[in-house]
Order: sequence, then structure tokens, then C-alpha cells
Amino acid sequence: SAEKLQKPEWLKIKIPIKNGAFAGTKEILKNGGLATVCEQAACPNISECFHHRRATFLIMGSICTRRCPFCDIAHGYPKPLDPDEPKKVAEAARKLGLKYVVITSVDRDDIKDGGAEHFANCVNEIHKIDGVKVEILVPDFRGRLDKALENLQHASPDVFNHNIETVPRLYKEARPGGNYEHSLKLLNEWSKCSQTCLTKSGLMVGLGEKDEEIYEVMEDLRRNNVTMLTIGQYLRPSKHHIPVKRYVHPDQFKKYAEKAKELGFLSCLSGPFVRSSYNAYEQHDLLFDD
Ligand code: SF4
Ligand code: SF4
Repeated sequence: SAEKLQKPEWLKIKIPIKNGAFAGTKEILKNGGLATVCEQAACPNISECFHHRRATFLIMGSICTRRCPFCDIAHGYPKPLDPDEPKKVAEAARKLGLKYVVITSVDRDDIKDGGAEHFANCVNEIHKIDGVKVEILVPDFRGRLDKALENLQHASPDVFNHNIETVPRLYKEARPGGNYEHSLKLLNEWSKCSQTCLTKSGLMVGLGEKDEEIYEVMEDLRRNNVTMLTIGQYLRPSKHHIPVKRYVHPDQFKKYAEKAKELGFLSCLSGPFVRSSYNAYEQHDLLFDD
């Protein structure tokens, strides 16, 4: 059964690097009073990313109003927004020397625009640092899409990312608060709002989907103007989360990337440890060159 699935060799190779650079990154974040999705979601790449002074900021608190059964982030009733957070994030980005900043957030179904204005404020603060690019990885703003899109346009992120996460058949089980069509709509509507910003999405595999279904999602994303894609292996954060149904072989991840290129994506990072913010700078910098 799925419970007895053994972790394959290719997932056992992450060697923790916990040296001075790692501690330094942690320190800057802690002193700045900032949360990261790296820590909150127990990302397997944390030692590598922190070593290279990379982190993905988790804004608007660490408590989510939704409860997706694949996700390790705490849920409950969140605290009010911190109006100083945009400045704090920019300050930490400056201290870390980031050239490319990724910010994401919990889902804030308790706020009228889902936190879109707050996202825009963060982007604007970060853009005050010379030559720094910003990627936002946003929640789905379900029920408040128009207001959210309007407020997000108060800033010009360089990449707009929203993870589609899984195939439509598995939404009910894996993303009970979300809606596949709605997420596609969000991506599409944003792509029409901005001429310069790239639109990006990401998928997890191993939740019970078939490769054929993944290809269909890729086609849907392209039809909705998404040009950047990430695909990674779902890893179960604890026994209280959805079990892993399969471990996808690295060769298959390569096939996904080939398919993405065929379909006209400008970039696709696909591999067992890929997360949407993994090497985000390179993903943006090394768009398929032909
Ligand atoms: Fe953080 Fe993303 Fe790196 Fe994971 S891959 S540690 S979430 S920056
Ligand atoms: Fe996790 Fe996002 Fe789902 Fe909240 S909405 S539980 S942060 S995946």
C-alpha cells in the first residue's frame, strides 16, 4: 500500500549544510521578525538555500485560514496585518544581499482583498533596492478576485506566481478550499493586467495523478498564458497529511520538462526536490533560450 512506499534513493541525497552562512541567514530573518516558508513548511532544500543566503518570505503571518491536507503550515485565526512588514522584508532582503526576492503568504480569507494591497506594498518597498527583482507567489484570492487584482496593480512584480498544485480530479481531496478553474482564471486575468510581468505556476506530483493528467494541466496553463513552470515531488510532512501515492523517477521529471518546452513554456524546472521558489533567480534568468 501507499503507507509502505519506501523513499527511493534519489530522495535520500540531500546533505545538510549547516555552517556559518546558514546560521547567518537564520539570524537575519529572526532579528527582522520575519517568517519564511522554508522554515514553516519544513522545505527539504532549506540548508542549501539558507547556505546561499536564499529564503522565501512568508508574509501576513504564519497562520493560514485554510487547511490543505498536503501543507505543513499552521491554520487557525490569523493576527492582524503588520503595516511595517513591507519595510521589514525589504530590510532583510537588503541584509541578505538578495538580487531576486520571492514572497509568498498564507491564505487570508479574513481580509477583504485577501492581502493583495499588502503584497503590493511589499513589492514596492523591495523595488526601492537597486536592481532587485521580485516574484510574488500568491494565494488564490477566491471570492475577492477583482479587488485583489485591482490592488495588486499598485505594484509591478517581475514574476507573478500562483501554484495550481495538482490536477483537477484531486482538488476536492488535496485543495478543498480551492478551485481549479478559479486558479486558472487568476493566472489568466493577471497576465492581461501586465505586459512585462511573467506568469508562473507549479505542480506537485505523487498525490495520485497520472502523467497524462499532468500534461493536460500543462496545456491548460499555457492556454491561460502561463509561461514559467515548476514541478516537484510531494513529500508528506507528517502522518497526518495526505500519503504519497508514488515517487516519480528523475527521468520522468525530465520528460515533464521536455513536454513543457514543446508546449511553449519559457522555463520549466522539474525534479524531485523542486519547489516553486527553488533557484527562482536562475529560473527567471535562464529562460529556454530557443
Ligand atoms: Fe525556501 Fe524555496 Fe529554498 Fe525551499 S526551495 S528552502 S522554500 S527558498
Ligand atoms: Fe498551506 Fe496555502 Fe493551503 Fe494555506 S492555502 S494550507 S498556506 S497550501
